[in-house]
Amino acid sequence: MVFWILAIVFSMIIFDRIRRIYRIHQCPNDQTLVKYFEGKLQKEDEAGYEQTISHLGVCEKCQSRLVDIANTEEREGGPNLEDHLI
Ligand SMILES: [Zn+2]
Repeated sequence: MVFWILAIVFSMIIFDRIRRIYRIHQCPNDQTLVKYFEGKLQKEDEAGYEQTISHLGVCEKCQSRLVDIANTEEREGGPNLEDHLI
């Protein structure tokens, strides 16, 4: 009986790890990256924030996407972007 409980707990832990690894290798969308860049993601979506950090550590494509976003925001300027939204 104890063996089965341990087996179930272990498979749940392994399943959770696989799911996290799978998510880390999925590229976040532009909106998420922009929120991450603006520092809003951590407040709105803690899990998504951690996921994005982990992903940026392994994905060169998203690292350069983030640089593009930074350049775009710099060109447009922070306050102007909010003016567009209003
Ligand atoms: Zn990516």
